[in-house]
Amino acid sequence: MPWIAIVVGLATGIVVWTLLDQIQSRQVDKIFDQELQVQLDLRARESLIRFDRYLAGYAATTRLLANYHRLSEYLDPLFWSDDEAIDPVVYKDFRPPWLPDFFERDALMSPSHVLLTDAQGRVRERFQAGADPLPSKLTDQVPLQWLDRHEIRTVIERLGERLHLIVSDAVEDAGGDQIGYLVVLVPVDAAFLSASQRGVDAERASVALVDGEDQRLLASLDPGLIPIGSLLSDWSKTHVVTSQPLPEYLMSDSNLLFATLVPQARVERMSRHVRIFERRQRFFAAAVFVIVFTGLIYLVSARLNKVLKRMTRFSQRALGIPEPGFQRAGNQLMLLEDWIQQFTQLVLKAREEMSRRHQAEMRESEALKAAMMEASLDAIVTLDHSGRVIEYNPSAERLFGLGRPFALGAVFAERFLPDLARPAFKRLLDRSRHRQREPLGRGELIARRADGTEIPVEISIAPIERVDERFFTLYIHDITSRKQAEQEIKSLARLASESPHPILRVSAAGQIVYANNASRPLLRAWAVEPGEPLPADWGAAVAAALETAQPLERELEVGGQVYSLLLAPIRDLGYVNLYARDITAVRRAEQESRQHQAELVHVCRLSTMGEVATGMAHELNQPLSAIVNYANGCVRRLQGGQGRPEELIEALNQITAQAQRAGEIIKRLRALVGKQPPACTEADLNHLVREVCSFLEFEINRVGAMVELELSPLAIPVCVDPVQIEQVLLNLVGNALDALEEQSESERRLWIRTEIEGDWAHVAVADSGPGIEPGYLKRLFDPFFTTKEGGMGMGLAISQTIVENHEGRIWAESVMGQGSTFHLRLPLASSIREDLGAPDVMLETTSIT
Ligand code: ADP
Repeated sequence: MPWIAIVVGLATGIVVWTLLDQIQSRQVDKIFDQELQVQLDLRARESLIRFDRYLAGYAATTRLLANYHRLSEYLDPLFWSDDEAIDPVVYKDFRPPWLPDFFERDALMSPSHVLLTDAQGRVRERFQAGADPLPSKLTDQVPLQWLDRHEIRTVIERLGERLHLIVSDAVEDAGGDQIGYLVVLVPVDAAFLSASQRGVDAERASVALVDGEDQRLLASLDPGLIPIGSLLSDWSKTHVVTSQPLPEYLMSDSNLLFATLVPQARVERMSRHVRIFERRQRFFAAAVFVIVFTGLIYLVSARLNKVLKRMTRFSQRALGIPEPGFQRAGNQLMLLEDWIQQFTQLVLKAREEMSRRHQAEMRESEALKAAMMEASLDAIVTLDHSGRVIEYNPSAERLFGLGRPFALGAVFAERFLPDLARPAFKRLLDRSRHRQREPLGRGELIARRADGTEIPVEISIAPIERVDERFFTLYIHDITSRKQAEQEIKSLARLASESPHPILRVSAAGQIVYANNASRPLLRAWAVEPGEPLPADWGAAVAAALETAQPLERELEVGGQVYSLLLAPIRDLGYVNLYARDITAVRRAEQESRQHQAELVHVCRLSTMGEVATGMAHELNQPLSAIVNYANGCVRRLQGGQGRPEELIEALNQITAQAQRAGEIIKRLRALVGKQPPACTEADLNHLVREVCSFLEFEINRVGAMVELELSPLAIPVCVDPVQIEQVLLNLVGNALDALEEQSESERRLWIRTEIEGDWAHVAVADSGPGIEPGYLKRLFDPFFTTKEGGMGMGLAISQTIVENHEGRIWAESVMGQGSTFHLRLPLASSIREDLGAPDVMLETTSIT
């Protein structure tokens, strides 16, 4: 890994350096050219300055000479006449007394000529240093424009073929009178220019004075190399040429320029040196840069390595990406790149998946929320921070009777709460704010519906915190019915205590948990107080009720009062409720009713007696007649002396049997007439039917009815009071005979059927009488309902009472014109019920005529 980082660093550094070098070189060249131009301009200016200083040196020395005391002393006695023809004094090869060697002393080129002129510029004396003659223009007269009374005047002018420097200054005599002018003349040639540029290598830069008009050189520092008379433009290829105007104080008729010529080769050499130097510098900088860059890459890659290792571990754990193989150092960067790509793709995929899931969850949650809002039985209203409605579900529409479009945007408290409820609502809101997510601000308020009616509601407020806002979700439940139920429960709770009947609650252990006021007599009878256990037998009854989970009924007599106690077990709670009822009056009424009934039955029986008596008399007649006959037969035999003892004994036995039969008949009659309490004995229903038929035999014969008995071949045991059931059957058969009397004699038929139907004994008494009008059918069993003249209308009413007392049932069917059938159903005696399988019933049919 490290050497790859170094190679990569180096390569990157070199590439970067090459690129930068390209760009930098161009920039550097540009800067260098600019700088070079500046340098050349500077050098040209320096040359000009040096030239200027050199000229200034002449001006200063000229002034010194002009003020030289010997000159003034020399001039003092002189008098120059205005005669123009005067020849000037000429000093040649020797110096006049007024001219010391100041120029040489000041390291200036010696002037070729020094002139003394009078005030009009006429040359009075002149010094000539060399062989050069004085230029013709100055031989007699110095032009006045080159002279100035007040200051030094410096002029460069072409005199003849050559340029000359002419410096003039006014001179005075010892008395201070201005006499004339001192004029110094110096040829401006190569030596002059060289002296002016003293200390400067002529190879580095050459100077020249150029005619501004035709650009030809008038003076040159190095005339051998750059000859006088050549054009300045000719040198621009080989030299860098800079031309500048001469200083302003220099007076000249011709337009002169000061030119500086730097050889191009020199410039290039210099530029090459500079570039090489600069390139070397840049190389060192680049090397430092590459080293630092490589080092940085190395550090970054090492750091990256660590991070990637950490990420690998993370990705292995979180995303299941395999190890990229750090041990293969060669192409690790590539591996890492691949791995990073893979990792990035997986992360992107995971992010997309997460975002998709998140969106799906959001959608689901939104749908769920919407469904919840839709389906919620409670009204759900969402408020913003200012209490305005922003969400409102269908239940809320129903509760407040206001459509969603009208509710949205309304201030909840103003729209849905009456004035009185608003402070309480505000308190709820405040409370919900301080309770974070913990539910909730909850309370009961009165809300106002759209139609102005007010309803009690329970409001729960859940605050919802968002980053920049807070909402409130209100769950509103209509508690009108709950309030009513609470009222009812409260009143129900009072029910037990307000009950006039004793109500108690007893625990499984037999302890009285609750007893209302009406229970006092019972508690007194048991000698217990609430909280104490019941007496042992009642405790056992409570335990039994709880165990069987069936209610038990017990009676308790307390001081003449009879209570019926219903023990109702509440198994889940382990309690038994005792509901007591004072049934003293009921019992008394029952007793009285029983007495009345017995009396009524008795009265009824007596009335039946009239009808029965005839039959009875007839029946008694038979055994009595038989007794008489047997007795008469015995008497006759005894009187004739023929009777054998066996015959007599037989006759006497018959007499005894008939007498017993008569006795039985009389006993039954007495039982029928006598007033006896009902007794329950097992009897055969067939037998009872036969008895009744025999009671009524006389009546049947009188009516001339044809009776068909279809009796069950098996005995039908019923547990009844036989006298009472006979009375019922007598009444039914009697009524049938009465009905038959209304028919012609040939159509008077009577059927009596008995049979066993399941657990029941069934008797049907049918006649071929005229039938019963449908309107009367329902009233037959009402007391005193009769259609007969002299009838009492009590027969069927009493029969129904008797049958119901025997837990049986009696009913009638009739078809007008065809006859009526009365059905009597009684429970079979329990003994026969157990024995009964599926008897093969053979009907016994008997006809009585
Ligand atoms: P009473 O015989 O004294 O009238 P009941 O209670 O025995 O009183 O009968 C009530 C009425 O029912 C009779 O008056 C009669 O109209 C009617 N009734 C009873 N049995 C029959 C029957 N077998 N056929 C027609 N009518 C009958």
